[in-house]
Amino acid sequence: MSVTTETMEVLEPATEQVLAELPRAGVEEADAAITRAKEAFPAWKTVAPADRAKLLRRLASAIEESAEELARLETRNVGKPIGDARGEVGMVVDVFNYYAGAPERLLGDTIPVADDLLVYTLREPYGVTGHIVPWNYPLQIGARTVAPALAAGNCCVLKPAEEAPLTTLRLGELVLEAGFPAGALNVVPGYGEEAGAALAGHPGIDHLAFTGSVEVGRSVAKAAGENTVPVTLELGGKSPNVVLADADLDAAAPTIVNSIIQNAGQTCSAGSRLLVEASVHDALVEGVADRFRAIKIGPGPEDPDLGPLISAQQRDGVQLHVEQGKSEARLVVGGDVARGDHLDGGFFYLPTLFDEVPRDAKIAQDEIFGPVLAVTPFRDLEHAVELANATRYGLIAAVWTSDLRTAHHLAREIRAGQVYINTYGAGGGVELPFGGVKHSGYGREKGFEALIAYTRTKTVAVKVAGA
Ligand code: NAD
Repeated sequence: MSVTTETMEVLEPATEQVLAELPRAGVEEADAAITRAKEAFPAWKTVAPADRAKLLRRLASAIEESAEELARLETRNVGKPIGDARGEVGMVVDVFNYYAGAPERLLGDTIPVADDLLVYTLREPYGVTGHIVPWNYPLQIGARTVAPALAAGNCCVLKPAEEAPLTTLRLGELVLEAGFPAGALNVVPGYGEEAGAALAGHPGIDHLAFTGSVEVGRSVAKAAGENTVPVTLELGGKSPNVVLADADLDAAAPTIVNSIIQNAGQTCSAGSRLLVEASVHDALVEGVADRFRAIKIGPGPEDPDLGPLISAQQRDGVQLHVEQGKSEARLVVGGDVARGDHLDGGFFYLPTLFDEVPRDAKIAQDEIFGPVLAVTPFRDLEHAVELANATRYGLIAAVWTSDLRTAHHLAREIRAGQVYINTYGAGGGVELPFGGVKHSGYGREKGFEALIAYTRTKTVAVKVAGA
């Protein structure tokens, strides 16, 4: 329950109209949520693993039953095509079902030391875990970060981004409806500098997971460091599709386009760079350009290929990068805000393709977070690796080739948390550990690794003879 009288407005990006006005959580509300989580923790951590699993499964079913409502809410709040939003809700169901299989499988070890010593380890939850998430995939990222934490027996405080908190708030209700104890999951919708900063620096937080920009990630890690709190950072990316001359270009082109168009390019793992071997450069760029020209733009509920950007600020940031790009590289398609009868009221931007982009150009280095693709040709494998690793980021990468030896060589040489061969993202499966290297962050979400990360090991040694 909120104690604040202050409110915040949530906009609909396709219309620029106010979609909701919410109580605005600040320092006091963050503090109250942490206290609730702390109070709930002793009981939650002792719930039998099988019962915790049952609740997670029940939550997955509740989300499935509310799938259309959640998808429509996400579409209106974030702007994304309804088909994508439906897919994301499906993934959220998968996430809770996946981690529902975890509580009974969180095993410790026995460690052989000496005949008269029985040594074993316990995997214990941290206590209160903080989760700060961005606006681009609010429900999906919120779910993937709290599900393993809850499964491991932690109580969570989740702060959605101020731009898109609506599905996260609904998730909080569904958690209660599914039968979780009050305080197991607490949602604090508020501004980053207020509720977010309060969470990051709070001594009552025992573990912090942050997904968002590099700059805020650093400040959050610093604040948590003051309390010696472990942090997971999922930050941005400038991920490359690396296409070799022997690749199946017809298979690659649609995936390359989708990897930058999805969620209007506002995806941490967007394929925002295309590195292509010189001999197939012209053919591939032509294929990608044709697809860009055919992209259908519109409001999310109409299920277009490309919805609006989240805000005026985001659109202006994209425009600034594109204007700079025009002096750095060759503009092939797009290059401006999208205009037209049904687009004038929203933050729409044309899919934009730049070719012959120099390695160090700003549009090759910055995470633009819009539907802007930068193409750079390469001469040989060494040049491809050099370009692939030439940004401060290292989140994901894809390699397109029909030569397995080359594929595995590049998979080893490219510095990234995930490398895909002849595909991109593999459907974003919850089973696949996800996270970055370099400025893309550290720690892993998803998979068994995320579950382990929400536990800490306690070693117990028992003298069993000669006492
Ligand atoms: P952001 O860093 O501005 O905000 C992310 C979250 O942090 C929001 O909830 C925000 O309210 C909060 N926040 C802002 N200032 C804060 C502060 N001082 N203290 C505590 N919390 C604060 O990022 P954004 O603009 O919302 O999202 C875009 C960024 O997120 C991009 O860089 C993108 O790549 C990244 N991202 C990464 C992943 C990933 O898994 N690697 C996923 C999605 C988005």
